[in-house]
Amino acid sequence: MNWRYRSEREQGHCNNTGCPCPKGKVLGGSSAINGHVYIRGSREDYDDWGNVLEDESWLFPSVLPFFLRSENALEEDLARDTTFHSRGGPLPVQRLPAVDPVSKVLVQAMKDIGLDERDPNGAVQAGVSMAQTTTINGERASANTAFLRPVLDRPNLEVRTRAHVTRVLFRRGEASGVEYRDGYTGTLKRAYASKEVVLSAGVMNSPQILMLSGIGPKEHLSSLGIKVVKDLPDVGENLMNHVSSLGVEFLLPQGWPALPADINAREQDFTNFVPGGPLSSIGPEEVTAFVRGPEPSVDSRPVWNLRFLGIIPKSRGGNVCNRAPPQDPLYYDRIQVTPVLLDCKSVGSVRLRSADPLAPPLIRLNLLGDKPGRDLRLLVQALQMSAALENTPAFRAANLTLNRAPLAGCEQHAFGSTAYWECAARTHTLNPSHTAGTARMAAPGRPGVLDSRMQVRGVPRLRVVDASSFPLLPSGLPNAPVIMLAERGADFIRQTWG
Ligand SMILES: Cc1cc2nc3c(=O)[nH]c(=O)nc-3n(C[C@H](O)[C@H](O)[C@H](O)COP(=O)(O)OP(=O)(O)OC[C@H]3O[C@@H](n4cnc5c(N)ncnc54)[C@H](O)[C@@H]3O)c2cc1C
Repeated sequence: MNWRYRSEREQGHCNNTGCPCPKGKVLGGSSAINGHVYIRGSREDYDDWGNVLEDESWLFPSVLPFFLRSENALEEDLARDTTFHSRGGPLPVQRLPAVDPVSKVLVQAMKDIGLDERDPNGAVQAGVSMAQTTTINGERASANTAFLRPVLDRPNLEVRTRAHVTRVLFRRGEASGVEYRDGYTGTLKRAYASKEVVLSAGVMNSPQILMLSGIGPKEHLSSLGIKVVKDLPDVGENLMNHVSSLGVEFLLPQGWPALPADINAREQDFTNFVPGGPLSSIGPEEVTAFVRGPEPSVDSRPVWNLRFLGIIPKSRGGNVCNRAPPQDPLYYDRIQVTPVLLDCKSVGSVRLRSADPLAPPLIRLNLLGDKPGRDLRLLVQALQMSAALENTPAFRAANLTLNRAPLAGCEQHAFGSTAYWECAARTHTLNPSHTAGTARMAAPGRPGVLDSRMQVRGVPRLRVVDASSFPLLPSGLPNAPVIMLAERGADFIRQTWG
């Protein structure tokens, strides 16, 4: 279900060893393995899209209807707000039914540091909330289950699984289909398009397929012996991402019933996992806090997303996905605060490792790599803010204590010093997999790969519709914007072909 990519070893993040880059290898793609949190980003994110693309149809008021088109808001309070939510679309949006007791402490702590409780998909994103998720009664709704499965019987739709696209085919300079490796037979096959080819292989693989097809930076393609169809230097460039660190950990007091004590009987585990049961939830990760930056700004966008992971240390059997021993009421005994930096300046790249279409692409994330070091400074501030949560009345009342055991690899620094948090950021980096931009849309004359209708520049009948098309990374999470973008893509295709 996962392509199991790993980025190249680079200095300055992920302990210089490369980071895991999970990507869904399944119908529904990464939406089938993600954290299913539904966040669109702020109004300003899309106003920026409209401005950089010099295309008003990407400004927030123009894209909001496309978010609403796919949404099915299942919460009464959300559905009532018809400006920002809608009912009846294919994508269910719901909070998780089982609320973890620790989440209540975390929400209160966020209020203690000045956040208001509000709908992050409403007028203002910054604040704290229980996550809206692409789930229905605790069960995941991926792009596959929400959009594809309900229409599988359409006569104009055929889904081929285990089909690994190896390149785009061309006829007289226009895209005419794709070649793919049939995983059942191990043979190469072809599928032809009567109108156009749409690549939606994601941030790593859409640029990979473009380059394998001869569309990309000419020197790079030539060096691998790939015939250049269209020299587009920006293919694979501009790999945007958010960044976080697992450096801040709080210990729960002994005996804290993170989940009710009576769920420990093995025969009950089944009912706990079924839709709506506590184990169909994501524990304290359901608390979603968006925090604005330190500098005064007219911009209402948050700079950080504070997230909370319930974990069990390896010595006690692994991570939160592993079931605790049946006699133990705790499913986790500590929480990690993972502050995600949303306003990142560092960009990486995707290149071909070789001309072999089955080889994994060469991914350089370049996290925390911007030259002025702004990303590192802002992540360190976020770690300091996270550690300071121990002083909030909510944490004190719940007796949540900061784990001061030094992080592996950072023992040489005084705990809590700036050097210590820099080490935490660089050594215990977390790649949140919010990647985008490797085949970005751009205004005419600006560096980019696609026009603002997601068509590949200079290659007729070829479009890229996925997170690689983003011109900029929103300050929310990418799944909702990808689905909005896909709604727009469907309209562009209808407009082009009738
Ligand atoms: C672990 C994880 C947690 C995340 N959590 C969240 C979250 O809580 N909220 C959120 O908003 N976002 C989250 N994201 C990000 C979000 O899921 C992705 O940004 C989004 O799903 C990307 O959509 P996409 O269409 O661009 O690409 P993908 O979803 O990656 O889809 C690409 C599809 O193309 C297929 N493909 C690739 N190459 C080929 C090929 N050569 N031939 C045929 N098929 C191919 C892939 O198998 C996949 O099915 C998370 C991501 C991960 C990995």
